[in-house]
Amino acid sequence: MTMTSLPPIALFDMKAQQALIRAELDQRLAAVLDGGRFINGPEVAELEQKLAGFAGCAHAVGVSSGTDALQIAMMGEGIGRGDAVFLPAFTYTATAEVPLVLGATPIFVDVDPVTFNIDLADLKRRIALVEAEGRLRPAAVVGVDLFGLPAEWPAIEVLCAEKGMFALDDAAQAFGAALGGKRLGRFGHATALSFYPTKTLGCYGDGGALLTEDADRAELWRSLRTHGEGRTRYEVERTGMNGRLDTIQATILLAKLPLLEGELAARTRTALAYNAGLAGKVQVPPAVAGHAWGLYSILLADAPARARVQEACKAAGVPTAIYYPKSLHRQPAYAAAHAGGIAAGAPELPVAEDLCQRILSLPMHPYLSEAEVARVVAAVAAAV
Ligand SMILES: *Cc1c(COP(=O)(O)O)cnc(C)c1O
Repeated sequence: MTMTSLPPIALFDMKAQQALIRAELDQRLAAVLDGGRFINGPEVAELEQKLAGFAGCAHAVGVSSGTDALQIAMMGEGIGRGDAVFLPAFTYTATAEVPLVLGATPIFVDVDPVTFNIDLADLKRRIALVEAEGRLRPAAVVGVDLFGLPAEWPAIEVLCAEKGMFALDDAAQAFGAALGGKRLGRFGHATALSFYPTKTLGCYGDGGALLTEDADRAELWRSLRTHGEGRTRYEVERTGMNGRLDTIQATILLAKLPLLEGELAARTRTALAYNAGLAGKVQVPPAVAGHAWGLYSILLADAPARARVQEACKAAGVPTAIYYPKSLHRQPAYAAAHAGGIAAGAPELPVAEDLCQRILSLPMHPYLSEAEVARVVAAVAAAV
């Protein structure tokens, strides 16, 4: 039997998981259909309690997406015109989009070549440049836990405390990850989650949540997600948005959450097997305890080597993807903001640019078999 006659492997797999909980899902969804409370049903509050319990934090607020979680968190701090929001250049577009939508200026920061997360030295350097110019107020740092690996939160927290800046954890790819035995949700002032279907905990549509230890922030976010409503439904206290998590998505997440602990362990087993098979052949990600392994990404020698590996994997029925092909400061939508953010001329972002040429993500989900993992390793190893 040749490699190509084997069934293709899934980059993400939501079918295997659904099969495990399909009967329960059908039952829970039927109850929502019968109850008819599609907005603010009791499932939303139940999920919020369980999310906070899982993360070990005080409060969870369900919202309509990961992007809206970031937006509601920044609106809560009054971030807008004249504010500088520091964020890694190597991340998903939503991280940079939100400050711009609010009229603030994203300041792109370079990333670490091993962890792919925000580089602390470069962050400090860019904060100093913004301070020296005196045009923008350094307002917030958005740390992203890229691919599920926590950013350097203790150091980011110290820096933000020193500067009076808002520390926002974009944990959209990392729900379930931990740092020093403490799950994300308790680092910084606020943690944003996405329940996009392929994330570590995903619903069947759009959804997200905000986590915090701070009761006042949680209360403010509940108002902001409901058009800024006050104590009564028809009192509008502030400008908000329609940013609620709907009952059906909350219900789906309630059925999936009990699987998450085991799924995180399965992701870790796969990542460790990949690392064992590929270390020394390509640059493998650090196998740090607490990594949520939302994605598994290797670094090839250069762009042609990556293209060769992608081709060989495709021929072997192994899908791959490039997260991300372009550093955000090079995206047409953000280039002008980047050029204007530090008018005196911002330093280059060499690591982010280099990673975009060489990064490659391999199949990663909790339902990969050992045989599939071996096939992925063999396909990559044969091509480098
Ligand atoms: C997925 C993602 C988001 C956005 O989440 P949505 O639920 O799709 O809005 C934000 N930041 C990062 C890093 C992400 O990966």
